[in-house]
Amino acid sequence: MGVGKPTGGRYIWRMTLDIHQFPCLQDNYGFLVRDTATGQVAAIDTPDAQEILRQLQQKGWTLDLILNTHWHPDHAGGNVALKTATGAHIFAPIGDQDKIEGVDRWLHDGDIISLGQSQFEVLHCPGHTHGHILYHAPQERLAFVGDVIFKMGCGRVFEGTMAEMHHSLQRIGALPPETTLYCAHEYSEANAAFACAYAPDDPAVQTSAEQIQATRAQGQPTVPTTVADEHAHNLFLRAKTVAEFTAVRQAKDAF
Ligand SMILES: [Zn+2]
Repeated sequence: MGVGKPTGGRYIWRMTLDIHQFPCLQDNYGFLVRDTATGQVAAIDTPDAQEILRQLQQKGWTLDLILNTHWHPDHAGGNVALKTATGAHIFAPIGDQDKIEGVDRWLHDGDIISLGQSQFEVLHCPGHTHGHILYHAPQERLAFVGDVIFKMGCGRVFEGTMAEMHHSLQRIGALPPETTLYCAHEYSEANAAFACAYAPDDPAVQTSAEQIQATRAQGQPTVPTTVADEHAHNLFLRAKTVAEFTAVRQAKDAF
């Protein structure tokens, strides 16, 4: 990502994060994020410690910080191995406190954390787990959303209520439309298949499903997405009420 340049005497937003996305485990994405001003590096979640170490070595980056979104083993399972190997500090959501190992700082909704000169705002988005948080970088127009929202989909409601998950999605939907969303899984094909069956006459859904198929046929990732794209084709985000959201989520669970 580039650095903001003056335009007509005014500065556009600064983009100071270099983001490295790579597939790991069955269908997870790992993310390494480097603050270009200082060279500080964070891992968003720890799905696979060995793969993250390999990617760090390939990039020539040194890990400073681990940012967990929630406690599930394919998100926090590599914490201790990575901390042992790199000495990185670990930040994690207070609401999943009893289930995450190696943590140096517990995060609350509204906390602002720094990676070098870049800043992330913590948004508590429960439903998938009690404590699930997002990391939103407003200046960079991006967010790491873990398992809350996926392209054309959303996380299963394991621990919270349907109302909580609906509210969490609406919070994401309220971010600026150009915000890039880095989802933690490549679930788009399955999500698109469900959406096409649930809303067979919806042109936005059909168009996106075709695009996803073509992208995957070329072996390319469909992540990241944007808030605007999800408003257009995500049936879970488009649900206006808790009842409407619940109906879509239950239909997907049974699909
Ligand atoms: Zn999860």
